[in-house]
Amino acid sequence: MADESRRKVVLKKDPLDGILSYCKMKHPNEGILILKGKSKKGIITIDSLVIPPFSYGGQTFAGFPHSFLPFDLSYVGIVHSHPTGPADPSITDMQNFFGLVSLIVKSPYENSEDIFAWDSDGNSLEIIFEN
Ligand SMILES: [Zn+2]
Repeated sequence: MADESRRKVVLKKDPLDGILSYCKMKHPNEGILILKGKSKKGIITIDSLVIPPFSYGGQTFAGFPHSFLPFDLSYVGIVHSHPTGPADPSITDMQNFFGLVSLIVKSPYENSEDIFAWDSDGNSLEIIFEN
């Protein structure tokens, strides 16, 4: 079943906690954060978060202005919340894919079971949670 060539995502506890509390704070709006980390041999390690450098208050992911993002090789992707519905990427999410991985968190943002990782083809990626 497992595709050996598929990337894996390592999410450390600090960014995990940060993502969950940020999404709760933004609810019922979507929250968006930039994922910072590194990618090596197909393992994407997320070790910190960056709040996007623009104000974002909408209820959907539509129109996410990527051109506002500074170019930074340590930006490995984006996480955003889905206040309603499943954590599947929407067409808009796929069109706005940034970096290597897209994390989607579904309500109620309680724990690691509410977070899902996707690649730019819309394939789900395994997330390994680390301390
Ligand atoms: Zn979305």
